[in-house]
Amino acid sequence: MSKPVSGKKSGRSVPGGHRLLAYLGKGERAAAVVQALGRKKEAVESRRRVRKDGSLVVPPSAAKRLGLVPGSLADIRFDRGRLEVLPDIHSLARVYVEPTSRCGLSCRTCLRNTWNEPTGDMDPVVFDRLNAQGPHHVELGIAFVLLRRNLADLKDLDKLARTVGARRVSVSHVLPYSPEMEKEMLCLQTLTLDTFTAASGKTEINLPRLDVNNTTKEAMFSLLQGFENLSFMGNRLSVDARRCRFIHDRCTFVRWDEKVTPCAGLLHTHRTYLYGLERTISAYILGNIESGDLFDIWNSPEYARFREKVRDFDFSPCHVCGGCTMLEKNEEDCYGNTYPVCGGCLWAQGVIQCP
Ligand code: SF4
Ligand code: SF4
Ligand code: SF4
Repeated sequence: MSKPVSGKKSGRSVPGGHRLLAYLGKGERAAAVVQALGRKKEAVESRRRVRKDGSLVVPPSAAKRLGLVPGSLADIRFDRGRLEVLPDIHSLARVYVEPTSRCGLSCRTCLRNTWNEPTGDMDPVVFDRLNAQGPHHVELGIAFVLLRRNLADLKDLDKLARTVGARRVSVSHVLPYSPEMEKEMLCLQTLTLDTFTAASGKTEINLPRLDVNNTTKEAMFSLLQGFENLSFMGNRLSVDARRCRFIHDRCTFVRWDEKVTPCAGLLHTHRTYLYGLERTISAYILGNIESGDLFDIWNSPEYARFREKVRDFDFSPCHVCGGCTMLEKNEEDCYGNTYPVCGGCLWAQGVIQCP
């Protein structure tokens, strides 16, 4: 039987461990944490022997999760001695359903403030039909919209999540619908300096686990500004910017009016701002499930071409330029791409994370 751990005593034995202290008020959980710290983590899911012809078979369960069937196209990435097999972007994995576009609240950050379209509710029959099609996993999470004015609340997110029983917190910058709102964003330097992006030409710095406290804060601050490609024990902090997670995560969206769109960014026509320039982003409708099956729409040549186009992401870098009037719409860009163009999309830059 494990001995109950006295909160204060154990807390003091963990230098700077305020997070652990959060557990220590509850004796049993503290014991569990201490035990977990001593356990070996099993990271390898399965071990496969390479075949005589040199091929390696993806385990069926993994193939299923990656949407790989005979004939699928999987992207394979080799990085630092690791081989990464990415899903087939043409296999549908997640459907976001908008049961209603009405809302009783009036958040200052809400994009609905810029809509110029009727709002409404999805037909319950359609909702039930969509609902019956897939497995469900319901989990409480918190979506936190980061603004200059609520920055200090970031440090309390863990406490808030525990209070309401949420397991995850997703933090996003605001998608600004006014010049004033744009000034509330805390990512304009990030966009221009390519912070946390795996840009070539930056020095690779690989850090060990280390204390984050008053002693290290200046050095950490300097490193986290993003002038170098930073890793912790070989795990990159940087990401591929110019990458759309909705396309790579194989998502689709069904609006309340049964129209199908590829992403949150093109769900409704809206107004936003970038570098003080007003932008009107037109929704991109790929079909309507009133007249067509969702899978037929997903597999249509137009939708497949769009996924490939966004995967290649050969759009002009409008997110960092803001230099011409083409940015005012998502109709075309200076690389010759035509509607819809994604070069100014802040979802693809990893700064907007909703939903
Ligand atoms: S942000 Fe969400 S909760 Fe707030 S008004 Fe808009 S739809 Fe409603
Ligand atoms: S990059 Fe932006 S606009 Fe383009 S598909 Fe992704 S979320 Fe939509
Ligand atoms: S279309 Fe080209 S010039 Fe215009 S804002 Fe985008 S990158 Fe800059």
